[in-house]
Amino acid sequence: MRELPERHAVAGHVAAGDPLSPRRAFDGLSRLARPLIRYRPEDPWEQDTATLPAPLARYRRRVRGFAERELAPLALPLDARPHHGPDEPDHEVRRVLRAAGRAGLLSDPLPRPLGAGDPRLALTSLAMTQALKTEELAAADGGLMLLICAHSLGITPLLLSGELRHLRRVVRAYRACERGEPQVFAFAITEPAAGSDVEEGHGAAGYRPGVRARPVPGGHRLSGRKVFISGGDLADEIVVFAALEGEGMASWTAFLVPRTASGFRVARTELKMGMRASGAAELELADVFVPAAGRVGPLRGGWAINRATLNLSRLPVAAMAVGFARAATDLALDFACRFRLGRRRLIDFQDVQLELADMIAETQAARAMVWAAARRPQPLQRESAAAKFHCTDVGARVATRAMDLLGNHAVLHRERVEKIFRDVRLTQIFEGTNQINRLAVIEDLQESILARIGDGGPR
Ligand SMILES: Cc1cc2nc3c(=O)[nH]c(=O)nc-3n(C[C@H](O)[C@H](O)[C@H](O)COP(=O)(O)OP(=O)(O)OC[C@H]3O[C@@H](n4cnc5c(N)ncnc54)[C@H](O)[C@@H]3O)c2cc1C
Repeated sequence: MRELPERHAVAGHVAAGDPLSPRRAFDGLSRLARPLIRYRPEDPWEQDTATLPAPLARYRRRVRGFAERELAPLALPLDARPHHGPDEPDHEVRRVLRAAGRAGLLSDPLPRPLGAGDPRLALTSLAMTQALKTEELAAADGGLMLLICAHSLGITPLLLSGELRHLRRVVRAYRACERGEPQVFAFAITEPAAGSDVEEGHGAAGYRPGVRARPVPGGHRLSGRKVFISGGDLADEIVVFAALEGEGMASWTAFLVPRTASGFRVARTELKMGMRASGAAELELADVFVPAAGRVGPLRGGWAINRATLNLSRLPVAAMAVGFARAATDLALDFACRFRLGRRRLIDFQDVQLELADMIAETQAARAMVWAAARRPQPLQRESAAAKFHCTDVGARVATRAMDLLGNHAVLHRERVEKIFRDVRLTQIFEGTNQINRLAVIEDLQESILARIGDGGPR
């Protein structure tokens, strides 16, 4: 068969106007068939957005606009700049936080007038709006996405505590964010000797907690270290989880620690492989006094708040990976259109088309998994954990395939693909490693597994 000129068709396909093309074929169907099937070769992002209820579609559009305007231009410069210590002021990052605050992206978990969320979305699950947000931000830049989203993670325990004083504190912080004077929160569970052991019950049962809370008149004194705390370097207040003195993990209690508290110090930030615009901080607590009003939830109520926070935050992490997969696929597709191998465009090689089709399908399936789970009013543990490990594995796989397609060009910083490849790898580790999330699926099914086994043991 004669190949068409390049501008009319991609190799191996008939031109859009050809009688054998899907466009012409579907045009030839009866009008009565239109309600059943139509051919709409529009932008896939627009097609997905059109499936959302109008307020969610508007929200998705608004966040994308913000991400492309404020985050995308800084993605490469912030990634490439030298690592700096926690004491050096970070003007660029502060500027982005101020813009995010004014745009309502630091305060949209709660509806107006409490936060900046659209009241029509109040009945939508929090996970859905946060998933839409993280996909859009991650598609523009992983580091600044984490900077913005770590704040929501820090706020979540306060909302989950159900305590009026903390709700008031959140609303005050939201007001300040919307004025462009961000008050930022962080979530601190990880300790030098425990990442997984503070995220799943079996490990926690045998773990000797590192951060301890000693009861004193009027409150508690906290001592120990937390590590890898996203945004811990900038946060005004940090929700720190600590075990009561002399007790184990079942005594875990959450405390709100202001960065100005005496004995609190940001010891360092890590130079890490990806998401560099967001600091991963080591926090030192040396006999830090937290008054009774700073306790978040009941004494020994920390484990419940921690697990609930993780259940809420794992879907947005899955959505981050969808954003990375989408961005990697877009970049690979752009490259395949502009790069020539010999005299042919890369896109004209059929195995490149097969590769891109797989990347598109994997991303689409991952997004469908996130949206399906996030549409529930309350996320299910097995669905959130499954989406977290599956979508982040998909994200990493798609980024690797994009690296393969770009060849030498993949290693060039300016092409952005290697940055996505580094950024997405982090999503397989934080919010529980993917192994721990796999175990969380089985943990959630434990009662039904035991019911299958029954009293008489395995059949
Ligand atoms: C960029 C970044 C940001 C982060 N942000 C935060 C934050 O904001 N707040 C916070 O508190 N923490 C944060 N963390 C910490 C993060 O949640 C932990 O790093 C993560 O849970 C892994 O912990 P670990 O390295 O201690 O793994 P470990 O628990 O030491 O695990 C080591 C290995 O053993 C495996 N493993 C452990 N237990 C089991 C088991 N029972 N069965 C099978 N395999 C197992 C793990 O999967 C892993 O492969 C962040 C980490 C990173 C990298």
